Amino acid sequence: MESNIIQNMDFNVNGNRLWNDLMALGKIGSGEDRGVTRTSFDQDDIKARKFLLNLLEQADLDPYMDEAGNIFGQIYGKNPEMPAILIGSHIDTVNSGGRFDGAMGVLMGVEVLRTMKEKGIKPDRTVKVVSFTDEEGARFDYAFVGSTALSGTIGAEKLKKDLASAVDGNGISYLEAMKSASLEGGYFSRINPDLLEQAQLRKNELKAYIEVHIEQGKVLESKNLGVGIVSGISGGEWAEVTISGEAGHAGTIGMAERKDALTAVGECLLAIEKIARESNGSVATVGKLDVKPGSGNVIPGRVDFTIDVRDISDKRRENTITKIYDSIREIAANRGLSCVIRPVQSVSSVMSSSMVIEAIQAALQEIDYPIHELPSGAAHDAMVMGELTEIGMIFVRSRDGISHHPEEWSSFEDVALGCEVLYRTTVRLL
Ligand SMILES: [Zn+2]
Repeated sequence: MESNIIQNMDFNVNGNRLWNDLMALGKIGSGEDRGVTRTSFDQDDIKARKFLLNLLEQADLDPYMDEAGNIFGQIYGKNPEMPAILIGSHIDTVNSGGRFDGAMGVLMGVEVLRTMKEKGIKPDRTVKVVSFTDEEGARFDYAFVGSTALSGTIGAEKLKKDLASAVDGNGISYLEAMKSASLEGGYFSRINPDLLEQAQLRKNELKAYIEVHIEQGKVLESKNLGVGIVSGISGGEWAEVTISGEAGHAGTIGMAERKDALTAVGECLLAIEKIARESNGSVATVGKLDVKPGSGNVIPGRVDFTIDVRDISDKRRENTITKIYDSIREIAANRGLSCVIRPVQSVSSVMSSSMVIEAIQAALQEIDYPIHELPSGAAHDAMVMGELTEIGMIFVRSRDGISHHPEEWSSFEDVALGCEVLYRTTVRLL
């Protein structure tokens, strides 16, 4: 049924042009078996940035880069005093990622602005597309750099401090990587980690931020829908836990005398899973275990593990987290072991703005497409931008829900549809 709608639709945007850009950008940083790898300010990220800048130049969209390396294109409004509309996402990837995560949203922004230009639309307010620096955090284990600089959520001084201490696998600090990128010259010359405060926008400079992103889940696929409206983005809490017992000889110490840290963690894992299941909404993951001394004939004396808990409801997430922490402490105590829980980071959920949701709904109605709202379990730049302005997101169906993987895929039809909905949403918000 949908394919009929798409074939009969008179689209404003040029789906073929967008798709060609997407496939061309996807070649940068791609290898036989490694998918697409463009981590912040590495050689392929620089190449991708140049590709995007060139695209913006060709479309006459007055590109520029800010101090944080965020790349912008724009159509100036007749009234520059009016708060602007910002559309965007990111072009960096995880290691061995796909062609769609981030890149699709940025290129859709370019396509929307390009289409507006071709149609001679002269908006009252300025409309911009942005490609944020480092959404994924793959190289330096520090994510959302560009959107954090733009929205000023943690302040420029804290961000500078964080970037000074973030290093990659080769010991290069974030600041050093930014400074060497600025040596590329041209648009890159403005990158300056010492002046990050200049990248920050004021609240009255933006009316809304809109992001289109692949869903990275299977909801739209299961509903047979190409696009959906994001109702909000789940917040999360991340923690590190250490369980300490006693290492000992695997042959000489009887079962009753043992203080095995790993069997305690085994009990913790099952408890965490049960608590999250019973919460009816929270998701909890233990993705990293470090067993010490890590020898086949030694009873594990210490285990460090991570916890990642997310939920669209902040209250429910806090409840889940409290139950998990209590249960870990109880399990350790019952086994005569000690435990230390260190919360690392906590981010609140962000709800999409009703103004943007209504504009997306109206856009979908115009093309007679079903409206479906769904929350985002993954974090996005929009979550950070939510601290600065009204945000809204459109999800595009992901094949088999796969992402952060070379097999990541969204169909041509769905990408074109997503872009058309973005175009109509943007024009409404102008
Ligand atoms: Zn992304």
